[in-house]
Amino acid sequence: MLVIDDKNEMTSTILSLKKRGDVVSFVPTMGCLHEGHLSLIQLAKQHSDVVVVSIYVNPLQFGPHEDLDRYPRPIEDDLAKCMAEGVAIVFCPKSLYPRQSLAVSLHVSGLDQVLCGQDRVGHFDGVATAVCVLFNIVQPDIAIFGEKDFQQLCILRRMVEDLSIAVAILAAPIARASDGLALSSRNRYLSDEQRKKALLLSQCLQAMVHQANAGEESAAKLLQWGHHFLSESGVDVQYLEVRESETLQTLNLLSQNCGRVFVAARIGHTRLIDNLELPCKSQC
Ligand code: AMP
Repeated sequence: MLVIDDKNEMTSTILSLKKRGDVVSFVPTMGCLHEGHLSLIQLAKQHSDVVVVSIYVNPLQFGPHEDLDRYPRPIEDDLAKCMAEGVAIVFCPKSLYPRQSLAVSLHVSGLDQVLCGQDRVGHFDGVATAVCVLFNIVQPDIAIFGEKDFQQLCILRRMVEDLSIAVAILAAPIARASDGLALSSRNRYLSDEQRKKALLLSQCLQAMVHQANAGEESAAKLLQWGHHFLSESGVDVQYLEVRESETLQTLNLLSQNCGRVFVAARIGHTRLIDNLELPCKSQC
């Protein structure tokens, strides 16, 4: 396994691999790898000859009061996990950008105004800019992103489409702990008590999907139930919303389009997100 921290070396290595006909897949991460990340790597392996993983805690996507400084960085552990998964190259640049401040920032309008975009102003600009720079350096054929960050996936798909970036985006389903909690690098901030509370998020989403499966069509009714469930348990909900899967527009009736239910909540100081696909009752 190659570990590369230099941007030029990264690009030249990829170009020589592509010259010999290898299909290159790419899994961008911020490290602190867990089974969720590893599932992306496994999916990448199924679709390519060479898997590249990047590990870079991107400062552009953190707000001033967020956890950039305390974000976990267990690099040796991460490299061992990549090695065990058969990753060919790990790209861990010290910095992704040529200067402290960038003159360019990518903004994918519309999709970033809702859900996490409301609480985390500028977050998705930081994500889109970093991923675009990474794509330019790594030049992958395929890039894999997790449905855990579903809004990010939609935004990056739109960026690739609008900018004609020659990368195929693949989505990986959310990897969960056996009790249903969506895996996240931030779960390690949680105490045992907080983890129990965090579990209510996936339980709430699952119950809402269950109600939809049992015939409930109204998003408002599902949401009313969900808000009640979470507030009764003292969960500090930032949003709980039903939205269309592709456009992230609000969805009132499940028969109108394919939708998902999205939640964000603060458990102690830790902000967690989750989402789940609702049964699609439309003809799409
Ligand atoms: P991060 O390191 O948090 O930036 O995540 C890197 C990639 O892993 C993103 O595409 C995430 O959506 C994905 N990811 C993180 N957690 C999970 C999970 N539990 N299941 C599937 N994908 C995940």
